[in-house]
Amino acid sequence: RSCLDRIDSVDQQLSAFITVDEKGALEQAEQADKDRENGTAGKLCGIPVSIKDLLCTKGLKTTCGSKILANFIPPYDATVVKNLKKEGAVIIGKVTMDEFAMGSTSENCAFGIPRNPWKKGYVAGGSSGGSAVSVAAYECCGSLGSDTGGSIRQPASLCGVVGLKPTYGRVSRYGLTAFASSLDQVGPFSRSVEDCSRIMEVISGYDAMDSTSVKKDVPDYQAALVSGMKGMKIGIPKEYFSAGLDPEVESIVQNGIEVLRQQGAEVVEVSLPRTDYCVAAYYIIAPSEASSNLARYDGVVYGYRKNDMDSLEQMYRQTRSEGFGAEVKRRILIGTYALSSGYYDAYYKKASQVRTLIVNDFKKVFAECDLLVSPVTPTPAWKMGENSDNPLAVYMSDILTISANLAGIPGMSVPGGFTSQGLPVGIQLQGAHFQEEKLLRAGFNLE
Ligand code: GLN
Repeated sequence: RSCLDRIDSVDQQLSAFITVDEKGALEQAEQADKDRENGTAGKLCGIPVSIKDLLCTKGLKTTCGSKILANFIPPYDATVVKNLKKEGAVIIGKVTMDEFAMGSTSENCAFGIPRNPWKKGYVAGGSSGGSAVSVAAYECCGSLGSDTGGSIRQPASLCGVVGLKPTYGRVSRYGLTAFASSLDQVGPFSRSVEDCSRIMEVISGYDAMDSTSVKKDVPDYQAALVSGMKGMKIGIPKEYFSAGLDPEVESIVQNGIEVLRQQGAEVVEVSLPRTDYCVAAYYIIAPSEASSNLARYDGVVYGYRKNDMDSLEQMYRQTRSEGFGAEVKRRILIGTYALSSGYYDAYYKKASQVRTLIVNDFKKVFAECDLLVSPVTPTPAWKMGENSDNPLAVYMSDILTISANLAGIPGMSVPGGFTSQGLPVGIQLQGAHFQEEKLLRAGFNLE
């Protein structure tokens, strides 16, 4: 009830929610009270959680931030949502996001743009902007988002909350609307690293419904929250601190490194020489996969349909022209072009080769250290609308988060401090595949 009241009082200004399920949430909360009395309380009993509107929720509208799915009500729950419910979490509503998770500010949302709760007129980050805002503004205690190129870590950093992108395959993607299937991963937002470890325990694990999910035991993530960093070696990737990095962001991250050093971590400099190529590789691979994944929105099976057209082709064309926003169309055009015969070798194949080199760079680095510490983004949050007509500038701001998705490794953003302007800045931790425990431990020691 207190979260619903909070939503009532602040969400008109913050636009974190697309749908608030007041009735459903109160019913689930009552059930949680009963479970507690009966001694059958799950791990997240009674905890209010918001869900990015890209994840299917049974009987609850799931728009993906797009006009084309404005009235779509899924007949099933995503596996992660099912897992949350099984452990007693209360699904309080669905939150704003860039259309189909394409963007870095959540300004590409057809149903309201989330606002940075720390400073009026500033972006919340994206694409999971609503997730970050709902947690930062105390509208709920945790959230699920998705990260294809930084969409959990970046808004978490810009809004001053914890966000974790797990290893590819750690968390089921069943029921997560596909953007770029080889990069997408679901993960939690929370206000503390401990809360993050609790949500991770509930959403992780093998799922027969996702062919890329991995059969691997789920560790006791809370047990990973050990005080001190003795025995841990942290690598500082020198390419992540190069020109273009805001000096205040740099100094907050350097302070974080110092905290970890004082707690016993050994600090070494390492190199990820292909960092400069990751944005280019990503913006071929992600749109290519997206152009194929989004072919299903043709007005036939579900979603928006333009009626009264003269031919089937005209119906397809008008449905997609009216249903998709500008950024989604741009991605479909780039992807279709990169995959077309004659260009496939020059673009998609080349980008895939670069991706392999990036994977190898990480393998080498993780033979030398346990985890990497760096900024999440080169700058703090910027003013809304500032980069609206410069998509390339926005793409470039993903430079420090994208490689984790290309390599499938886990990455996390932990609040590091505030700039002189009062904007939060996160510190990024990255580890080798399935080393989430190390990230949580380091994050815990940074808090
Ligand atoms: N900003 C990136 C993009 O626009 C990443 C988005 C994401 O992780 N979903 O594609």
